Amino acid sequence: MTDSWQQHEFDVVVIGGGGAGLRASLAVAQAGLRVAVVSKVHPLRSHTVSAQGGITAAMANNGDDDWRWHMYDTVKGSDWLGDQDAIEFMCRHAADAVYELEHMGLLFSRLPDGRIYQRQFGGQTRHFGGEQAARTCAAADRTGHALLHTLYQQNLRAGTAFFDEYFALDLLTTVDGQVCGIAALELATGRRHAFAAGQTVLATGGGGRLFRHSTNAHINTGDGLGMVLRAGLPVQDMEFWQFHPTGLPGSGSLISEAVRGEGGYLVNANGERFMQRYAPHAGDLASRDVVARAIALEIHAGRGLGPHADYVHLKLDHLGDRLIRERLPGIRDLAIRFAGVDPARDPVPVVPTAHYMMGGIPVSLCGEVLAPHPVAGLYAVGECACVSVHGANRLGGNSLLDLVVFGRATGQRLVEAAQHTSAVARPSADSLAAVTERLEVWQEPGEGNLADLRQRLQQTVQKHCGVFRTADWLAEGLHVLTQLEEEQRRIGLQDHSRVFNLERMEALELDNLFLLARATLVCALARTESRGAHTREDYPDRDDRVWLKHSLYRLGQSMPDYKPVNLQPVDTAAIQPVSRTY
Ligand SMILES: Cc1cc2nc3c(=O)[nH]c(=O)nc-3n(C[C@H](O)[C@H](O)[C@H](O)COP(=O)(O)OP(=O)(O)OC[C@H]3O[C@@H](n4cnc5c(N)ncnc54)[C@H](O)[C@@H]3O)c2cc1C
Repeated sequence: MTDSWQQHEFDVVVIGGGGAGLRASLAVAQAGLRVAVVSKVHPLRSHTVSAQGGITAAMANNGDDDWRWHMYDTVKGSDWLGDQDAIEFMCRHAADAVYELEHMGLLFSRLPDGRIYQRQFGGQTRHFGGEQAARTCAAADRTGHALLHTLYQQNLRAGTAFFDEYFALDLLTTVDGQVCGIAALELATGRRHAFAAGQTVLATGGGGRLFRHSTNAHINTGDGLGMVLRAGLPVQDMEFWQFHPTGLPGSGSLISEAVRGEGGYLVNANGERFMQRYAPHAGDLASRDVVARAIALEIHAGRGLGPHADYVHLKLDHLGDRLIRERLPGIRDLAIRFAGVDPARDPVPVVPTAHYMMGGIPVSLCGEVLAPHPVAGLYAVGECACVSVHGANRLGGNSLLDLVVFGRATGQRLVEAAQHTSAVARPSADSLAAVTERLEVWQEPGEGNLADLRQRLQQTVQKHCGVFRTADWLAEGLHVLTQLEEEQRRIGLQDHSRVFNLERMEALELDNLFLLARATLVCALARTESRGAHTREDYPDRDDRVWLKHSLYRLGQSMPDYKPVNLQPVDTAAIQPVSRTY
């Protein structure tokens, strides 16, 4: 059985070459250990590359600031579902993490005095809810691009081994059931590879392609979550998906919050700046869930624009051509290419679009996968993980921060763990056989059309689990999902002899999207309250008495388990739940 698998051995294998994976692998490579990064696309095409607006850290370069204010904003932004020990850790280490990136060579935009430029983002305040802060460090509107290139170059220098365009299929285990690496398919050749490793890290990014309208790249299919679910492990808080207020209708391309941070604002069909009605204090820079709901309500009330009255306008012409070209060049490009408008002259049409997965694989502060105790040899980091710093709603600029702060902490733990691992264990024949079986399903011809099925799955989740939800809609969504799952069992690749591996990869990704869909709908139906991005029309209020807890879903469950939110930071005072207004 093992003969058909090409064997590799490393101290650490990281699946995913985005910001999170590369920050973790860098720490390991710099410690002189053997580390492999396995990625289904070239690392520089990972989704981190498209992050626009910036990375948040209280550095006080652009007015007073304090990491405790950042912590307060993040807890409030999370609608009190974020764990306060994790949020404290992230905000406290934010400035160090950004300076570290600067010293690695990341070319941040600058203030006239040479310090790193910081812009305003939604939900940022001074003095625990006071005036607007400017806390997000940026490289124009291409921060993720700059960050990813910097980390990739540092990894090359440190000797990380890269396996580009290898699709990770499933976790491998020893005869005793301990995780000991992953199985992967080499896309160019179809060869099968077994990566045996002392420590395995999932850094596979988000799953935003679960929705029909998404700002995410087509590769964001939640593969790491699929792998842990198939291994019998839980995923956390899957009902919480962020809808970004300003995606372009049609393409779903993101128009960054940086636009509103630089002074852009939203208007409805009457030309009204409607955000003042929904968030009198923060206006256009309220938290994303608040702005997305406001836009959806304006459209619902008939105040949308366009032939179908189904979008609103984002105005930035008053900022002037020069500022737009200097600070928002990528946004200008996107607006011209995908919406046909020059933002220096005309308003940009925008609509709420699925954007970010707040839930994920439950982990400790140093990336250990929890089920509920640490799973030996298995880690997760980045958008696929849930530590949980974003709770029910993520603040802009906090994801890139999450990647580098927890990427570094995970890397340090991996180095410690490697010192206590004498020899790398071998995967069992049974574990390889299970992956072979999964692959072979896709060697058989079958009926149906894969692309069509994927689209119907995305439409179902979009329709039944969008910005607003009700019990009836969610239950109906689960019913449709059961029918689609039935179809999926019968589907096959159309003409097997002519199929290239990319199509096989899409089929395998679809397995993962189906698992994410069920986890999302089950958890959303069970949570009978509204919190952050989870808005139940039939339960419009937040209910702290019952629901100050995280959902934990395992494959096959019709009702999730729960664990309490950690409201206790380590060194600072707890931020007690109060009503959340902006
Ligand atoms: C358009 C857009 C703009 C954004 N802007 C910002 C911003 O300005 N600031 C901010 O803080 N956040 C922003 N975000 C969010 C942030 O960019 C992401 O959350 C973050 O980059 C995710 O990083 P990651 O390393 O976890 O995953 P990714 O960068 O998505 O990388 C995932 C990696 O996993 C690999 N992979 C996945 N599955 C497999 C598999 N089966 N086998 C092998 N490899 C696999 C991929 O090849 C890839 O290398 C933005 C998001 C979007 C969509």
